[in-house]
Amino acid sequence: MTEDASPFLLPSPDFTCVQPQCRYVAGVRPFRHGTYRLEHEMIREKFVVHNYGHGGAGISMSWGCADVVAKIVRGYASPSEQKSIAILGAGVMGLTAATLLSPDYKVTIYAERLTCTTSDIAGGQWAPSVIKYDERDPAAKARFEDILRTAYRMHEQRIGRGFGVSIRINYTKAKSDTFAKVPPDLIAKPTWFEPLPFKHMASNGWGYRTLLVEPPVFLPRLRNDLVKQGVQSVQKLFKNVAQLAELSETIVINCTGLGSKTLFADNQLQPIKGHLVLLPAQPSLTWLFSNGSTYVFPREDHVVVGGSYEENMNDEIPDPKRCQDIMRIAKDVFAGRALAKEFEDAPWLLRNK
Ligand SMILES: Cc1cc2nc3c(=O)[nH]c(=O)nc-3n(C[C@H](O)[C@H](O)[C@H](O)COP(=O)(O)OP(=O)(O)OC[C@H]3O[C@@H](n4cnc5c(N)ncnc54)[C@H](O)[C@@H]3O)c2cc1C
Repeated sequence: MTEDASPFLLPSPDFTCVQPQCRYVAGVRPFRHGTYRLEHEMIREKFVVHNYGHGGAGISMSWGCADVVAKIVRGYASPSEQKSIAILGAGVMGLTAATLLSPDYKVTIYAERLTCTTSDIAGGQWAPSVIKYDERDPAAKARFEDILRTAYRMHEQRIGRGFGVSIRINYTKAKSDTFAKVPPDLIAKPTWFEPLPFKHMASNGWGYRTLLVEPPVFLPRLRNDLVKQGVQSVQKLFKNVAQLAELSETIVINCTGLGSKTLFADNQLQPIKGHLVLLPAQPSLTWLFSNGSTYVFPREDHVVVGGSYEENMNDEIPDPKRCQDIMRIAKDVFAGRALAKEFEDAPWLLRNK
């Protein structure tokens, strides 16, 4: 032990997976090459603000991007002009934007899916993973970091208020490239553990203080609050941009995630599928664990085990074999075993990218 580490052991997960208490699910991350899209344009008479392409970081970045959206809208039309706003998309990006714009503006949400979105599937760790911006461009870096600051603080303000947000330590074997993107003033330096505080894990590692934002609590809470504020939601699929003309609203916030690939012909968007195994909840587990080949996020509803990163796979159908592999990798990590040979070059593991 170094003087940083504590002489304690944390409980390890019970990986018993018996259906139907244990479930397999999959979702598709809306990754955008270059960077996420957060900008406005005029499309015929509509003022359109785009807010999509947040890859594996949508839950994390949501409030920060919503804040930028709200500032763009306020710069275009003050609430006194009483303009109505259409928000396309009912995932985390649409819901947080709606929250910051209502009740100052009359907001209506339009979405093909009003629930069961990609956001509803997410694990919920606060971490800017699978997201890009131009790191050589100081303005892009500053903007990204500002978004992270706002997002983190707005999530943090909701701790203990029924939004499913809690402080967690994420234990990891190696220094995290993902957390390296977080501005140093935002979260504390990681703590070094020698070894990590799990019974069979002999390796050393780091503990990062971050947040867990539980989507099954957070998103229904946002939806309920919006209903209470009088925000209406309309189930509607937009097949092409011309259909925007059917909206009575002149301000449109585009939060359609991967849907923008077709709707706005954005070829920079790339689907990246992720599988999750949902084990029964284990309330004694109050930590997070991740490395390049696995992650385990104990939540109130389930212990979420993940780790797949499947490029250009655009379906939400869980593959049982992939889920069994994900479980085997996680079990081996917590049993102190090395990654099995057969997974060393697996193209679907983030560590092999
Ligand atoms: C397995 C997995 C784990 C993840 N874990 C995390 C995590 O731990 N932390 C984190 O921060 N992020 C995580 N993410 C990423 C996160 O889920 C996404 O970045 C986020 O959900 C994107 O939100 P969104 O609102 O842009 O898109 P979505 O949630 O996909 O919402 C898009 C909305 O637009 C609607 N829509 C799309 N096209 C149309 C159309 N043509 N017409 C009408 N409506 C349309 C949809 O119906 C939906 O309502 C994870 C993702 C996956 C797949």
